[in-house]
Amino acid sequence: MIFETYEGYRASGFQPKAIIVGSGPAGITIARKLARAGIPVAIFEAGSADYTDESQDFYKGTTVGDPYFDLDVTRLRYLGGCSNHWAGWCRVMDAVDFEPKAWVPNSGWPIRRADIEPYLDEIHDILDLEPFRNDVAISDDIRWVQLIKSPAVRFGEKYRDEIDASPAIALVLNTYVTDLQGDGSKVTGARIWSAGKDQGIATADFYVPCTGGLENSRLLLWSNVQSNGGVVPHAAALGRYWMEHPQFEGGNVIMRNPDQFEMDAVSEAFFSPSREAMEREQIMNFGIRFIQMPYHGAKWLLAELACVAPETAEWVSEGLGARLRCAAQLYVGWEQAPRADNFVALSATERDELGIPRIELHWKKSEQEHRTLLQGLRLFGKTLAEKDYGRLRIADWVSNGDPYPTDQELAGHHHMGGTRMGDDPTTSIVDRDCRVHGMRNLYVGGSSVFATSGQCNPTTTIVALAARLGDHLAARIGQSAMLDKG
Ligand SMILES: Cc1cc2nc3c(=O)[nH]c(=O)nc-3n(C[C@H](O)[C@H](O)[C@H](O)COP(=O)(O)OP(=O)(O)OC[C@H]3O[C@@H](n4cnc5c(N)ncnc54)[C@H](O)[C@@H]3O)c2cc1C
Repeated sequence: MIFETYEGYRASGFQPKAIIVGSGPAGITIARKLARAGIPVAIFEAGSADYTDESQDFYKGTTVGDPYFDLDVTRLRYLGGCSNHWAGWCRVMDAVDFEPKAWVPNSGWPIRRADIEPYLDEIHDILDLEPFRNDVAISDDIRWVQLIKSPAVRFGEKYRDEIDASPAIALVLNTYVTDLQGDGSKVTGARIWSAGKDQGIATADFYVPCTGGLENSRLLLWSNVQSNGGVVPHAAALGRYWMEHPQFEGGNVIMRNPDQFEMDAVSEAFFSPSREAMEREQIMNFGIRFIQMPYHGAKWLLAELACVAPETAEWVSEGLGARLRCAAQLYVGWEQAPRADNFVALSATERDELGIPRIELHWKKSEQEHRTLLQGLRLFGKTLAEKDYGRLRIADWVSNGDPYPTDQELAGHHHMGGTRMGDDPTTSIVDRDCRVHGMRNLYVGGSSVFATSGQCNPTTTIVALAARLGDHLAARIGQSAMLDKG
């Protein structure tokens, strides 16, 4: 069922067992799982079915530190959330991303990749994905990995009819959950703003904020202010360990054989380091995006190389002849170490229309990250040269350690951390089941629970974790129903 207003929903008398806040990929995946188990669930979505400037305004905020996107540009506040403009790149985080690494502070999850692997078949259905192929080691240091360019499912469009037809899901649009209320051991209700007024408190047995990788922190920080710490009783890490995937053009390559690697549908291939290389170089995970250049770009690159690297230019002209099309630009995106001093805070000065503090995001790249970028490109260049696949030119600003360019992509629009998963309540917010430490009935969905970021785009992993959380909640709700009957 879909309700355009909260008042319509309230009049329906629908009694949810769980309230999900937000209708992006995480919220819709969890709701569908519960509905399939016959459990009534409400999704409260702040926006309407389509984009509006009024709703988007609530996402404004400020950033302190490195240059970043405007916070109302890097996300979308309406049905389907950011899936309305995601690019559809898919890959599940690597096994190594879940493991603790002695050389990366605060690394490691309390779960392993094997814990989400049972959900891979479901993910393929949800995201309309082909099966992934295994990584291929092209040297001891470098893996040829796969990112699938999927049809970029818009969750609102794909699941709207199914939700509308479902008697177990009430999707309530134009319904802003301003804060959760709690007594330090459980959430007691969600305060609702809709149709220009305070609508009071909505209740259910369980609550699951799925408001995105920035907004989950904001909602819980503000809820804690309102309830005097009663929603996140162990809040030392709340908003902290926030991460992105910085992304920049890092260099160019001339290949001997354009068919050396199978390119995907958009003439791209991806490369990442082996675990051994990461450990030896004390760097983090990275992804090199190899984009084939059109002929004129290849000619330009050869001319450049002839000036600055005559030996390489000679190798190129000997080996290539007329096959100048096999040149590539390299974009590098990399893992950020989870650091407490990258964090989401409530602004002391900026408030939204309802007087709720906007986000102040504190975000900086670290020295270890520059090393990851530089060493990553060097390792890739070494592999290409040793195998005689090609020659790589690292961009001057990377080699020289100059400041990051400000006229490039900057990052991936991937908002991770803030309510990270862990066993220790002093450095994490949710446990291995995505339940907030110390709270009986509060769970979190989405990439805010990521303990590390890995190098790949987050949504495939978000959906896998959401499917897992859906199963967990269905089992818990089922158990409490049995106990009630017994
Ligand atoms: C330009 C761009 C390109 C991207 N490309 C890729 C890609 O190629 N691959 C990839 O894996 N990822 C990509 N992403 C990231 C991807 O879109 C997100 O990871 C994903 O959408 C997150 O899903 P979510 O459900 O956690 O949150 P969101 O999609 O952000 O959904 C959150 C929902 O909560 C609602 N909401 C917020 N606050 C409240 C509130 N207080 N009350 C009620 N409702 C609320 C919002 O309106 C929204 O519908 C991209 C993102 C952007 C911006």
